[in-house]
Amino acid sequence: MEKHYSQEELLSLKDMCLAHNYSSFPVTIVKGEGCWVQDINGKRYLDMLSCYSALNFGHKYLRVELALREQLQELSTVPGCFITKEKVLFAKELAEFCGMEMVLPMNTGAEAVETALKMARKWAYVKKGVPVGEAEIIVCSDNFHGRTISVISFSTEMQYKKLFGPHTPGFKIVPFGDVFALCDAITPNTAAFLVEPIQGEGGINVPPDGYLNACLKVCRANNVLFMADEIQTGLGRTGFDFACDYEGVKPDVYILGKALGGGVLPVSAVVSSREIMGVFEPGDHGSTFGGNPLACHVGREALRVLREGNLSMKAYSAGVYFSNRLRNIRSSNLARIRGRGLLIGLELAPGSPTAHSYCEKLIEEGILCKEARTDVIRLSPPLIITNEEIDWAMERIERVFS
Ligand SMILES: *Cc1c(COP(=O)(O)O)cnc(C)c1O
Repeated sequence: MEKHYSQEELLSLKDMCLAHNYSSFPVTIVKGEGCWVQDINGKRYLDMLSCYSALNFGHKYLRVELALREQLQELSTVPGCFITKEKVLFAKELAEFCGMEMVLPMNTGAEAVETALKMARKWAYVKKGVPVGEAEIIVCSDNFHGRTISVISFSTEMQYKKLFGPHTPGFKIVPFGDVFALCDAITPNTAAFLVEPIQGEGGINVPPDGYLNACLKVCRANNVLFMADEIQTGLGRTGFDFACDYEGVKPDVYILGKALGGGVLPVSAVVSSREIMGVFEPGDHGSTFGGNPLACHVGREALRVLREGNLSMKAYSAGVYFSNRLRNIRSSNLARIRGRGLLIGLELAPGSPTAHSYCEKLIEEGILCKEARTDVIRLSPPLIITNEEIDWAMERIERVFS
């Protein structure tokens, strides 16, 4: 039997042995079930963070757990140069789910973004005729696409990039929500426009109505790929299968991750057409664990759970119920409720305490949450949350704002 560790012991060990790249809340989580987690002292919390949308089905979702166990008994890891039924069918089913044709499975979100960037560059050279080495990719201010060197190279968050240069060239930044800026930035060398349909980490920023559609039209007119990073917004989170669906926009490329692994494994993917993804040839790209049968089996089940459980619709109605209740809070510190479906941001008024301090109070009340930027409290519970659970949360949120 392993020795029992108290929270104090774990905290001091953490400072000694773990890199200090996260500032953590003093809560040690030991168990999770559905929308709830339990800390080391037995206190229960309603999980309103869902691990940034990785836990769209909540903790220990039975079907996901069974799929994981089932595949563990058969086969878990196979090199990419061999075929597995799981990988092939994952690709087929994910492509169908997205209304696309081809899939390239990876592990983390950042890797899928990198994959999409490589694909866009090669597509520009071999299909569009951009001179080799000159491809440009346009991204938005306040973006979040991950933490690799190339991805932070086009971040507008100083801390993410300042001391991590030299940076990868080939990116242009335009203001999020401004289609004219996108128009102006496009040149004959532009390969792609990479955008989050709603910015998650950037503060739950919903673009003006019609923005995505207008951007798609501009991209089409200029033979530029429209690449939607739906890692956080996709798979039901916003009340639609994809946040792009709200405007009826079908991008050229979907980038998916987080919930694709059912909350139990890192599973990400780039999804596109044969015309675009066809630029990859053997040897161009790969990943040791990307597309492993364990991940693919879980990913397939995650897609089925989403479909058969109607979770996008559930997120839509729960989102309406939750946002309406939040809009009824009367507090001079609360400026606005924004978001879509169950991706909700509480924007604090100028001069009010920080979102971080509000999150600390909410955590004390038993609600797990985290700020997005300094002035937005993000609330993004599992899509399976019930109205009763939302009521439970509202009692505490109201208390914190009174
Ligand atoms: C979380 C996230 C990523 C990065 O995913 P990781 O799995 O952490 O690498 C990329 N884009 C968006 C929109 C995200 O929310």
